[in-house]
Amino acid sequence: MSSTKGTTTPMMAQYLEIKAEHPDALLFYRMGDFYEMFFDDAIAAAEALDIALTKRGKHDDQDIPMCGVPHHAAEGYFLTLIRKGFRVAVCEQMESPAEAKKRGYKAVVKREVVRLVTPGTLTEDSLLDARRHNFLAAFHVVRNEGALAWVDISTGAFHVMPCSGAQLGPELARLTPREVIVVDGNEADWAETVSDSGATLTTLGAAAFDSTSGEKRLCKLYKVGSLDAFGSFKRAEIAVMSAVAEYLEITQRGNLPLLRAPVQEGQSAAMQIDAATRRSLELTRAMNGGKQGSLLHCIDRTATAGGARLLERRLASPSCNVNVIMDRQDAIAFLTDNTRLGEDLRDALRGVHDLDRALSRLALDRGGPRDMAAIRNTIGQAGALWAHLPEGLPDTLKTSAQDLTGHEALFDLLDQALIAEPPLLSRDGGFIAPDYDAELDEARKLRDEGRSVIAGMQAEYIETSGVSSLKIKHNNVLGYFIETTATHADRMMAPPLNETFIHRQTTANQVRFTTVALSEIETRILNAGGRALEIEKRLYSSLTDAILAEAGPLGALARALSEIDLTAALAHLAVTENWTRPKVDDSRAFDITGGRHPVVEAALQKEGAPFIANDCGLTDTPIWLLTGPNMAGKSTFLRQNALLAILAQMGSFVPSTSAHIGIVSQLFSRVGASDDLARGRSTFMVEMVETAAILNQADDRALVILDEIGRGTATYDGLSIAWATLEHLHDVNRCRALFATHYHEMSALSAKLDGVDNATVAVKEWEGDVIFLHEVKRGTADRSYGVQVARLAGLPPVVVERAKVVLEALEKGEREGGGSRKAIIDDLPLFAATPAPVPVTAAPSEVEEALKAVFPDDLTPKEALALIYELKNKL
Ligand code: ADP
Repeated sequence: MSSTKGTTTPMMAQYLEIKAEHPDALLFYRMGDFYEMFFDDAIAAAEALDIALTKRGKHDDQDIPMCGVPHHAAEGYFLTLIRKGFRVAVCEQMESPAEAKKRGYKAVVKREVVRLVTPGTLTEDSLLDARRHNFLAAFHVVRNEGALAWVDISTGAFHVMPCSGAQLGPELARLTPREVIVVDGNEADWAETVSDSGATLTTLGAAAFDSTSGEKRLCKLYKVGSLDAFGSFKRAEIAVMSAVAEYLEITQRGNLPLLRAPVQEGQSAAMQIDAATRRSLELTRAMNGGKQGSLLHCIDRTATAGGARLLERRLASPSCNVNVIMDRQDAIAFLTDNTRLGEDLRDALRGVHDLDRALSRLALDRGGPRDMAAIRNTIGQAGALWAHLPEGLPDTLKTSAQDLTGHEALFDLLDQALIAEPPLLSRDGGFIAPDYDAELDEARKLRDEGRSVIAGMQAEYIETSGVSSLKIKHNNVLGYFIETTATHADRMMAPPLNETFIHRQTTANQVRFTTVALSEIETRILNAGGRALEIEKRLYSSLTDAILAEAGPLGALARALSEIDLTAALAHLAVTENWTRPKVDDSRAFDITGGRHPVVEAALQKEGAPFIANDCGLTDTPIWLLTGPNMAGKSTFLRQNALLAILAQMGSFVPSTSAHIGIVSQLFSRVGASDDLARGRSTFMVEMVETAAILNQADDRALVILDEIGRGTATYDGLSIAWATLEHLHDVNRCRALFATHYHEMSALSAKLDGVDNATVAVKEWEGDVIFLHEVKRGTADRSYGVQVARLAGLPPVVVERAKVVLEALEKGEREGGGSRKAIIDDLPLFAATPAPVPVTAAPSEVEEALKAVFPDDLTPKEALALIYELKNKL
């Protein structure tokens, strides 16, 4: 682009106008085969993408910074930018340059933003994790009543529930949305909660959250007269659903995704698990944020992406409804009793594609023939699956089985219309099968005949010209042309050959010609090819319509496939890992025999080490106080019981020989806090804030796991806080709890409180070393073995020896009851560093000689200090 000093070119004027509408997004401005960015966008994008920043023309006398990315590689760049927190406005050319020229010599090509790419609105397979949901959420409070809505536009799933400001954090932790919309002006109230959940915060004007106009918008969207068809919604719920719809309209520019009917979620339906508990139990993500090492990764045996997403949903929201849980267990039990059937189902499921996402791409006009083939193949595979299912299925499998069939008409249509393995995009045609459309067959025949005529022409022209190397070639600029090497140029351009061969171009080594006959046949090919493409496009859109007309039943099919997949996967897991069916009821029981921690067990298995199974019984004494040395297995035991409750309530079998669990309504897990420096809080502060949350919220249906609470402060402070916390759990919260501590003093509490029992993880001492047995027993630990553990960890021997001396003195002092701790410490003999053993062959050094003569216990502190100076001088 050329530019005149001090003026704005028409193209730059267009750019600035479009950019003004999207101030908070990077504008990807389409120019031919590239997306280009200008000004600050270019500077930010060049840095984020690590691409070259250049200049293009001037604006107001200043150079315009510019960078660009090729159009065909744009998806990868979108992903990088989104991960770095940007939003992208994609601005396309809406006409060809030739069309623009028709409007005037200087007319700028029409351009429009066709889509906003944001974290919550991705649909491309390449940008999504197939096995995870990608939620966009909206939160709003209307007259003290809050609500949360969330949608996965890549599958169309749409949910809404009442949600107060206080519940927002836990709910976001459960759903892990990628983007959360709140009302403009209130964002400061929610910014921290949203960013804690890892989501991007987006704001929309208050109008988008208006429940009156929102109701109309939603009715129009779903083509219903009233939303009552879907349930009775509170105003806040309508407001957040409406905001989601508005945002989708803005970002998708009218190409609305396929939204399923909104599903209302009740609050009490799911076990409440707050963000800190999810993190500490590593349910769906490990501590490092990745999937590896999480419970989800460890137990995922699903064969389909839809099944994997369902597993993540179930694991994130274990149910509190005994009937729901028992139904799921019945289905799994049916397959653990029929392992052959389970494996057949799993085999058949491997041929299933991601139906939800294929459908959603077609609805957004971002799909292609391959998505249609995926739908065709999946319907076919569902039929095969159905054929495997016997009579007498338990309820959930029976319901799913019913949705597997009934798509035969659509299958036949797609089967006849599409070739076996169609291309990704419809753009270049070639996906409609022969014999499907007579008109298309005719156009293709003409086109192909033309091509074979051209092949014959080459032989003819070689003969006429006598140039045996003559070739007929094709490129996008010249179309078909005849090419010879430059050495034949003179001959070809002289009579009589120049009567047939019309010169078109000379390059360094070649000359190119055309002939009247060649141009004629080319026009014929082009016309026929163009017509074939047009017909294919028309057929493509009618196939899309036929598929979308079936979107409802296809959605049910997708759900059925995911349900069967998950059931078969959990049955497979139960059989291969030796899990059993837990008894879940409305009691307050918690009795586990032979419980195991699936993730630790799997890790140990890799090393060939056994996992020691342990019992846990909280039915009679709801609180267990667990003591034992570090590394004995306290944390593992605590967490495994929490995980058993989660697995049982998601409807799965559990890793134990038997289990009886009364519904757990809330689960809390706190593990000796780690510094939360990012949020500027000290370890101790975090611990106390989290403990406060538990003590304020836990009811008698809660299960609380506390590991080393009070560790972050001075001994007596910590002990007193741990002590008071345990009393509060026992007297006020009256919940089931497992409490691990290294304060042995606390075991005295069990004598005072009826509901508290002592347990310890057994260790054995052998030749001065501790051996961890990882066995949990009733009773208290005799000592902490901290010094031995420290030795195992490789603390220098002098430090270990010294620690032993200090420990003995402290213990002796305590036994004899005499003197304060300070007095005992003052009385301690001085630190006597025994030197590391020296090889016997080496001659003793001067320092060693001097040391031999020293009796440390006889030295006063002052003498010892003097001695150190003296020894140092000898070095
Ligand atoms: P603590 O909390 O007492 O310090 P952990 O629970 O962190 O101890 O366990 C320390 C290590 O011991 C674990 O990483 C694991 O390898 C091993 N371990 C724990 N429990 C068991 C068990 N039941 N069987 C076998 N190994 C175990």
